[in-house]
Order: sequence, then structure tokens, then C-alpha cells
Amino acid sequence: MTWTQNTFDNPVTRYPKVEPPADMVSEPGRDSELDPPADHGEETYVGSGRLEGRKALVTGGDSGIGAAVAIAFAREGADVAIVYLPAEQVDANHVAEQIEKAGRKAVLIPGDLTDRAFCGVAVEHALDALGGLDIVVNNAGKQIFCEDLTQLPDEQFELTMRTNIHAMFYLTKAALPHLPAGAAIINTTSVQAYLPGPQLVDYATTKAAINAFTKALAGQLAPRGIRVNAVAPGPIWTPLQPSKGQPPEKLPKFGEQTPLGRAGQPAELAPAYVFLASPESSYVVGETLAVTGGMPTP
Ligand code: NAD
Ligand code: MG
Repeated sequence: MTWTQNTFDNPVTRYPKVEPPADMVSEPGRDSELDPPADHGEETYVGSGRLEGRKALVTGGDSGIGAAVAIAFAREGADVAIVYLPAEQVDANHVAEQIEKAGRKAVLIPGDLTDRAFCGVAVEHALDALGGLDIVVNNAGKQIFCEDLTQLPDEQFELTMRTNIHAMFYLTKAALPHLPAGAAIINTTSVQAYLPGPQLVDYATTKAAINAFTKALAGQLAPRGIRVNAVAPGPIWTPLQPSKGQPPEKLPKFGEQTPLGRAGQPAELAPAYVFLASPESSYVVGETLAVTGGMPTP
């Protein structure tokens, strides 16, 4: 699919409504199989040197929001390492191709972030391959719906916590000794932190925790010149949603509840991450930037 962006695009109609079939695919979902396909900025994101010479690590950078962020960072002048699950290699290859097309270095780090040791290995790999690190985006996430708490498997609860919270902690802890003043840490939270869906008890809990982690760590690291912020997406069309992220019957109307009346595209998230990574946001610390299509947040 080819997308275009005009200077005065109407946000309501900039992208068509997403009306996917009420089907479920196994997780992790893949962008290469997403129906309809999503925009990661391949044809639309125009860089302007805002991250020239920077070195970024983006978890979940193979697909969805992370893919759009990785592509935008590269077009802004950063070398980019992405972490993803080995089953997502095809998506990762596509993103690497886009990073290299922008003339930047792409580093591919497949592995499982719920493994604490791997979080350290991933940071070391990125440091070696990039020659340092000054942007960390904790974006990998797990979202599996379950409408009845008594049916929520213990293993799922723990995996959601480990993927969304523990991995962020271990990865950030491993990266911190290497981050210089001027570095940025950006965590992906969600509108679910404020408007938790009854079928996403475990997931919504992690997103509220990510907001608190972000604010607490931001206070701790600001005196060192390291800024920590978060982005809270609303309903965005990514492989997370049809791979058990939503009850399948909800998919055909995904995102229609927003004031804009449509789901967001990953490409619409990337500018928020670029802003928070770049020095132009030097006085923005501990903030959660909502990109929700108008769904209210505190
Ligand atoms: P996505 O499926 O494209 O991205 C999630 C990525 O997480 C996967 O690509 C995968 O590489 C990574 N991941 C999951 N478990 C992992 C593990 N154990 N080890 C390594 N990597 C792992 O979907 P997305 O929607 O772009 O999700 C990105 C982030 O955005 C997530 O944190 C999600 O919670 C958040 N978010 C998404 C939406 C939305 O509507 N899509 C809304 C709010 C927040
Ligand atoms: Mg993926």
C-alpha cells in the first residue's frame, strides 16, 4: 500500500478507517501478514537531521510502533539497533532495509526479553555494534485479552509482567552505566493506563506501572542530564491487536471510539518519540505524551 502525506491533511481522513476481519492470528503477530497493512512511514516520514550521530536501541523495533520509530530515527540521522523475537525475523529484515536505505547502521538483536540475562546481552550487543548508546526505547510489549480474571492463566499474568515491566527494568539497568548526559530513555505506555479495558486487567496494570516507573526514574536521572519520558498511544493498527490483543469481534471497528473516529497508524507515533529523543525537548522530563486520537488522558 502507498500512503501519502500532505501539508494540510485532515487528521480525520489522513488514513482510512481500519476495518480488519474478525480473525485472530497467533502471537507474535507479524506486520508482513497484517491485513490491512500498516504505515510505518516508509513512504511518508521525512527526516531533518534531528538525531544526527545518535545511537539508539529500540525494543520491539521489528513491527508496529517500534518499526515506525526505528525508521524515523534512522531518517533523522541515528544508527539503530532493534530487539525482537526470533519468530519476527522477516519483519526485522524489512526495518533493517529501511534503516540502511537511510544511510544508517542497522543492528539486529533477536532474543527473548523475558529472559533477564538476555536483556544484558542485548545492551552489550548494541553497545559493541553501535559504539555506544544514547537513546533507549522500551517498547516491546505483550497484550492478550481475557474477559474473566478467574480464567486468566497465571503464566500469562507473569509473562505480561515480565515482558512489559521486568524487561524494561533489566534493560534500562544494564544500559544506564553507559548512557552519557544528553541521553534519552523513552518508554511505551498506553491509554490503557488511564482507561483500562475490562478485558485487559494484566496489560493495563503494566501500563500504569510504566508511567510510574517513568516519572520516578526521570526524577532520579534528571540531575545526570538523562531524560526519561513515555509515550501513551491510543488504538494503533499493529500486529499486537489481531494476535489476541482484542476479542476478534471488536477488530472490525478498531479505533472507531476515538474522537478522530479511526485507529492510528504506527507512522503517526514516530514524531512523538523523535521529539522526546532529540535535544529540542530538553526541558521535558517525566512526561507521558498522549497520542490517542483524542481519547482523554489526565
Ligand atoms: P507489535 O506487536 O508490533 O510490537 C510489540 C513487539 O514487542 C513485538 O514486535 C515483539 O518484537 C516485542 N516483544 C514482545 N515480547 C517480546 C519478548 N519476550 N522479547 C522480545 N521482544 C518482544 O505491536 P505494537 O502495538 O507496535 O506494540 C508496541 C508497544 O506499543 C507495546 O508496548 C504496546 O503495549 C504499546 N501500545 C500499543 C497500542 C496499540 O494499539 N497497538 C496502544 C498502546 C500501547
Ligand atoms: Mg513484531
